[in-house]
Amino acid sequence: MVTKQDLINKGLKLIPISDIDIEFDPNETEAYDLTVENDYTFSTFDGVFVQDTMAIYHPITNESQEEIKDKMMNVKTATSSYSVNYAISKEMSVGLYVLTKDYSNTNSPFELLDENIDRINDPSLNVIYKKRQTTAGKAIFNSCLPKDYEFVDKLVDKKVANSILYDLVENYDEKTAMDATSKIKDYGFKFSTISSPTITMDNIQIPNEIMELKQKLEGATTEEAANLLDQMLEILKEHLKNTGLYDLVDSGSSKGWNQPMQMLIAKGVIADTEGNLLEPIKSSFSEGFSPTEYFQASKGARHGIISRVHNTADSGYLSRKLAYLLAHAEAHPTLKDCRTKNTLSIRLNNDLIKRLKGRYVIDKKGRVIPFKQEDYSDGDIINLRSPIFCESYKICHTCYGELLKRFKSPFVGIVASQVIGERSTQMILQVFHLGGAAKISKRDILNDIIENDPKSGLKKE
Ligand SMILES: [Zn+2]
Repeated sequence: MVTKQDLINKGLKLIPISDIDIEFDPNETEAYDLTVENDYTFSTFDGVFVQDTMAIYHPITNESQEEIKDKMMNVKTATSSYSVNYAISKEMSVGLYVLTKDYSNTNSPFELLDENIDRINDPSLNVIYKKRQTTAGKAIFNSCLPKDYEFVDKLVDKKVANSILYDLVENYDEKTAMDATSKIKDYGFKFSTISSPTITMDNIQIPNEIMELKQKLEGATTEEAANLLDQMLEILKEHLKNTGLYDLVDSGSSKGWNQPMQMLIAKGVIADTEGNLLEPIKSSFSEGFSPTEYFQASKGARHGIISRVHNTADSGYLSRKLAYLLAHAEAHPTLKDCRTKNTLSIRLNNDLIKRLKGRYVIDKKGRVIPFKQEDYSDGDIINLRSPIFCESYKICHTCYGELLKRFKSPFVGIVASQVIGERSTQMILQVFHLGGAAKISKRDILNDIIENDPKSGLKKE
């Protein structure tokens, strides 16, 4: 067996690659020990690495280590997408939520200096920070941000936190953005540990109003049931205010209000295997189901598991085939413009406008100009330069756009297939995450299609 000393003798230097430290100690663990400190780095892949085993390919020579650092450690994802490789979620977002909540503490404010920030454990204290009166929590949050960043004086839930991260990565240099996000992450964990919100079903008294409304579920039509459930949820939310559970759900760290709803109020409307809506189940998980209810409720769950088992493999093969198909698509190392006259003519919508940054369009006089978000509005038709029409044997930089500067890799085909593969896997499978509970949403589907707004945002719920 190769020992650590052998590797060191061969000239292997274990350099921590940014936040990922790889330690090699076969004498103790007989394997590489991978410590991922920046747990949020992998959110784009929705990866959970707890107790997973994987092969690690450690670059041995100095040149290969440099290459890895240069090409693989991307802080940003594509410019044209408004997602960032970082995302705040789970514990971190509860922590930030608790930190930036409004409190009604009555202590007289004292001046809080940057060097004392770490000593504060109570976010509710009134303080004066940077010449403004605020809570200690908000002061702590703002101390993470760069000096010239505008004071954030609002409740920071998952959505707000991630839009701030995006702002940082977009508008500041890599180091400043990294420092700020690291601090935000640390304080998120710290304050979720301190507040430690939790759920104990025994402690939650369901208000009588809800119990009365629940009786009406019997024999209700699907639409009536949906309305009743909405009403009950509103009452429950009001009832749970200022509890740990409310913080957990409202901060965006959990899967939303659907879960406490099923646990505490009623399982609600479910669909059978053919997608037909069944009569609403009015028991909740905390009360327990009757045999009939249990059978009906688990129908969806079984369906979900079976579909997942069947479809993951297909989606995986699709991704692999895409990668084979696109493996030859490369960006040209130097060619700026292939001067093709063919363009993609597309009608813009608000979602698309945000995502075309870094691409090139042909204006009315036939000139190639960079796409500028502010020049266009909903409904405009543009002539977009696209790799589809590139006339060079390797894609030119105008057809591909500015993304190339971020990827630092010419293998754009592989990148594209990975992006599509990851998303398609999620889209096939996410339908089943609800465990069979049907979600009744009142929406104008035709209008949604016309608007083409695929629930845009940083992340799917
Ligand atoms: Zn081209």
